[in-house]
Amino acid sequence: MYDINRIREDFPILGREVYGKPLVYLDNGATTQKPRCVVESIADEYYSVNANVHRGVHFLSQQATNLHEASRETVRRFINARSISEIVFTRGTTESINLVASTFADSQMKEGDEVIVSVMEHHSNIVSWQLQAARKGIRLRVIPMNDWGELLMDEYERLFSPKTKLVSVAHVSNVLGTINPVERIIEIAHAHGVPVLIDGAQSIPHLKVDVQALDADFYVFSGHKVYGPTGIGVLYGKESWLDKLPPYQGGGEMIQSVSFEKTTFNELPFKFEAGTPDYIGSTALAKALDYVSALGMDSIAAYEHELTVYAMQRMKEIPGMRIFGEAEHKGGVISFLVGDIHHFDMGTLLDRLGIAVRTGHHCAEPLMRRLGIEGTVRASLGLYTTKAEIDVLVAGIERVRKMFG
Ligand code: PMP
Repeated sequence: MYDINRIREDFPILGREVYGKPLVYLDNGATTQKPRCVVESIADEYYSVNANVHRGVHFLSQQATNLHEASRETVRRFINARSISEIVFTRGTTESINLVASTFADSQMKEGDEVIVSVMEHHSNIVSWQLQAARKGIRLRVIPMNDWGELLMDEYERLFSPKTKLVSVAHVSNVLGTINPVERIIEIAHAHGVPVLIDGAQSIPHLKVDVQALDADFYVFSGHKVYGPTGIGVLYGKESWLDKLPPYQGGGEMIQSVSFEKTTFNELPFKFEAGTPDYIGSTALAKALDYVSALGMDSIAAYEHELTVYAMQRMKEIPGMRIFGEAEHKGGVISFLVGDIHHFDMGTLLDRLGIAVRTGHHCAEPLMRRLGIEGTVRASLGLYTTKAEIDVLVAGIERVRKMFG
């Protein structure tokens, strides 16, 4: 059973007050709060195990290595990858996308080649490619969307040409909450012989993801958005693709042997993990994944879906409410504006009521341009959000609206 009160007790921060008001944390799209087991894992490992991984003969180093590699197996199981060779630890979604963009463009693309992205991408899935575009002379093609915030699949199909080398799209939009039809997106790309990278930053915390069922070529996400620590994330890549890509950074661990004449590289996944990895972070990330797995990703998804339906319905009762993103398949991200109240004013006043929301362009300026606005207020839900908190948000918005007359 999904016992929300019990679950909330696992997250000490949810019990605090801001400005003398109970915290209502609705900024989970930016980062999530951490359960006790994640925070304690970090302290425990520093207190009792800490040693650099992989290169040590001594006891602690071997224990730390075992924890780190067991965490890789936890990640593998969580997304159902075939092999731990396919799980590369990175700093997060951004670094994972940059790794693929850089190494894929270098080894698989030439001037005039194209990458397909969508209009609702986060900057990290736009700018990473633009850096390569400037360097290699490659071009971005953009999948448009309808006014509900759903990608236009016919237009998508029309973007393919022999120059198309990769498709890179978000599973769930961080602004609109749209759950994109990634199965179909991948199927279409594969029919054209083109691989697909899925930005899972906003899906991994909310949906059950099976990279083999999706047949994704690359799938990336951040630990901190799935109740894990900051500074660690994952790049999943099919072994056949990771084998084709050159190393991203040079340094310790990614080599097999080094001489001034010739250096050979380590096997997967270590080829992409130069330098000391965040082994404390990987253990804590595994704890976070174990935590959500114990609740059950399907239970989390069902709970959050009910909450999203409730929130959308309550928000729409507010006069002057404009919601951006009303896709049929939508996760718990609600972007809105009320009347002509500036998003920054709304966010600042809600904050004074103890309600943490995000305001601005949400690192998606091209999407803002498509919507014809400069920014929104965004409430994003998590596995510990309650209906009562939605009610506090709605009452808060009403109060701000009345203040502005
Ligand atoms: N993609 C999407 C869809 C996101 O929501 C975010 C974070 N807001 C990112 C990428 C970047 O994630 P990170 O900053 O953790 O690298």
